[in-house]
Amino acid sequence: MMTQVKTEAEIAAMRDSGRMLATVLQYLKKEMTAGMSTKDLAILAARELESLGGKPVFLGYQGFPDIICISVNQEVVHGIPSTAKILQSGDIVGLDFGVLYDGMITDGAISVIVDQPKEQRHKELVQMTESSMYEGIAAVHDQVRTGDIGAAVQAVLNKGKYGIVRDLVGHGVGHHMHEDPNIPNYGRPHTGPWLSKGMTIAIEPMATLGTEKVYVAPDQWTILTADGSWAAHFEHTVLITEDGAEILTQL
Ligand code: MG
Repeated sequence: MMTQVKTEAEIAAMRDSGRMLATVLQYLKKEMTAGMSTKDLAILAARELESLGGKPVFLGYQGFPDIICISVNQEVVHGIPSTAKILQSGDIVGLDFGVLYDGMITDGAISVIVDQPKEQRHKELVQMTESSMYEGIAAVHDQVRTGDIGAAVQAVLNKGKYGIVRDLVGHGVGHHMHEDPNIPNYGRPHTGPWLSKGMTIAIEPMATLGTEKVYVAPDQWTILTADGSWAAHFEHTVLITEDGAEILTQL
């Protein structure tokens, strides 16, 4: 289903939803330390979101068994929180979260390095992936085309010679977690569907230190890099405005 132009009331609900989402992710970032399990983080997220008054979106989505996706190192996205997965200093931890509030959904993600990076290139990967997301957001305006956004993201990631995951892409969001159109993290300017002000979209680059190729783990959820290289993922839900974008999933 194509993402719709949202009403003022729907946008207001998405601002609240997005603020809750960002609050939870920043809280997890602050609390994250070596020795915690990814399930510990998921429990903290559940408590924090409940206290804020939001509802988790991922739980039960196509059968996903938890409220947040936590993906470590060579896991790109869709990792399932587990008591058996213990964080170590230097891990790159992707936190991908969705919040429902007053009928409206926002989707957002950050990647965080536990304590200190093991290697300088891990830190650079995280920084450049985040930069590529902001360059994608900077390309947004009324009547932007999806290829304009993808090209802006890709330009940053190509500079760092990162693998750009192509099997997973950004998307419309709001009434549903995934609305059309797809918003790839690559592309050519002046191509792809047009987007109008008032629409809300999730821009979410996933980059690796190696290949762009990924596969699904036996758990049927976790997406891993084919070559074991480490990955980073950032995501904001944004509202398209006349001459830019308003980021909804930030404080
Ligand atoms: Mg998303």
